[in-house]
Amino acid sequence: MSSLASCIFCKIIKDRMKLIETDTILAFMDIGPIARGHCLVIPKYHAAKLTDLPDDQMADILPALKKLAKATGAENYNILQNNGRPAHQEVDHVHFHVIPKPADRGDQE
Ligand code: 5GP
Ligand code: ZN
Repeated sequence: MSSLASCIFCKIIKDRMKLIETDTILAFMDIGPIARGHCLVIPKYHAAKLTDLPDDQMADILPALKKLAKATGAENYNILQNNGRPAHQEVDHVHFHVIPKPADRGDQE
């Protein structure tokens, strides 16, 4: 696993509350949730963009995303992964958002 001293997500790997942890990935709640249950899945390997991440660091990502999406209880959700400032990436450590989408009142009728 590589890590960068100045990377906030590399620091979280060491000392924050974890929802899911495997040898290669970590999941935790987003500090600024845009929906109730908004959480993040990251590889422990420090890579800024998805294209920098070795394939062998990806295996546990998809099962974690599915597990978390299910755990939120939301029937509808977004999985989001931003790369580069113009694409709204703020933290330069690969991360996948799990964002539950609560049903609108209108959807339930
Ligand atoms: P991005 O825009 O890079 O795709 O998303 C970065 C996400 O990381 C944002 O949703 C932001 O709220 C979250 N974030 C930034 N710093 C921290 C932090 O220190 N702790 C946690 N848990 N989330 C963070
Ligand atoms: Zn990092």
